[in-house]
Parts: sequence; structure tokens; C-alpha cells
Amino acid sequence: MTFEQLQLIEPIRKALREEGYTIPTPIQAEAIPYVLDGYDLLGCAQTGTGKTAAFSIPILQNLYNERQNGFARGIKALILTPTRELAIQIGESFAAYGKYTKLKHTVIFGGVGQKPQTDALQRGVDILIATPGRLLDLINQGFINLKTLDYFVLDEADRMLDMGFIHDIKRILPLLPKKRQSLFFSATMPPEIERLAGTILVEPKKVEV
Ligand code: AMP
Repeated sequence: MTFEQLQLIEPIRKALREEGYTIPTPIQAEAIPYVLDGYDLLGCAQTGTGKTAAFSIPILQNLYNERQNGFARGIKALILTPTRELAIQIGESFAAYGKYTKLKHTVIFGGVGQKPQTDALQRGVDILIATPGRLLDLINQGFINLKTLDYFVLDEADRMLDMGFIHDIKRILPLLPKKRQSLFFSATMPPEIERLAGTILVEPKKVEV
């Protein structure tokens, strides 16, 4: 399997060629077609498997195609991840794979001043990558509205729980539109994680690597 066989649009293929990617990793080969087709996804995968591209590439492609038909302003995709380092890495992936899509993303996390983050939000973004605490802070201050969301990704769910983010997540979930596509990734699937996945996903396709 090559990226050419995944029916990606040229702006993304071009970016992937420049990254030097030719062969999708197993999780990419399995997950990308499901996400492009609109399914919810339950992914059991660790960092290092290429899971970031597995969700960011099809989200970029779907948003790019939707944008051609014209869509209203507002945040279309939310990626929730437990740490600042992961948030930054995911932001870099969206920047790399999305460089020819004209879609805008920004990254927000705690422990730093919020002004540059709220400035970026006010300029308008399509894709928001966030850690849970700062996301809730900025929602509560009125800088973020998730009503326009189409895509929700929960990354590293098991680490989220280990780090004590479950209460934040439970506050965020009711703020998401019911009609959305959700992708859920975890390195391990203990019962608590399966239960959480069950509250977020609707008839998900399962991918394990
Ligand atoms: P991740 O598991 O998403 O953290 O990705 C692990 C690393 O693999 C990152 O540095 C990516 O840039 C790289 N990578 C992801 N997919 C591919 C691919 N299909 N070909 C080559 N490198 C890749």
C-alpha cells in the first residue's frame, strides 16, 4: 500500500511527498479510509506508530473538501491531548500535512500566558489542538465556542485518565455538538477507557496496531 492508493487530494499528497512519506504505517493504512468515509474510530495505538498522521491527514482532507462547498467560520476540529509537548507535536503535524490546504490551526496549553493563544483564536482557526485545562479556561472566558465542531479527537486517552483529566473531559464532552465525527486513541484499553470510549463514539470502526 502506498499513499497514492489512499485517494488523498493533491494538496496533501504534495505535502507528504515533501515530508518524504511514501508508505503509510499500518494504522494510517487502516484508519485513513474509515475517517475519510465518516466513521467514528477507536484506535489502540502508541506514540511512534504514526497515529498523528492517521487522524490529521483525513481530517485535513475532509475539511478541505467541505471548505470547497463553503462553510461558516468557527472551529471545525478539536484535538484534545494530555500534554503541552504532544499538543505542539500535533500542531507541527497539521502544519506539515496541511501546508497547501489553507486551513488554519492553533495550539493551546497551560503554563504559559494566554494572550498569544487568544489572539490566534480571535484571528480565526479551523482546527484547535488543546490540553484540557486551558481549553476549559478559555471556553469559560468566552474565547472558544465549540458549536461549529464537526470533528473531535481524543488522543492518548489512557494518559489523560492517569494524569487526572477525567473531570475536565467530562466537562468538555457536553459542550460538543452531538452530530460530529469522533476519533478516540489510547495505547491501552482497560475497562474504564472502554467505558469512556462508549460515551464518545457511535458505532466506531476499530483499529489496533
Ligand atoms: P506519531 O506516532 O504520530 O507520533 O509519529 C511518529 C513519527 O513517525 C513522526 O515523527 C512522524 O513524522 C513519522 N511518520 C508518521 N507517518 C509516517 C510515514 N507514513 N512515513 C514516514 N514517517 C512517518
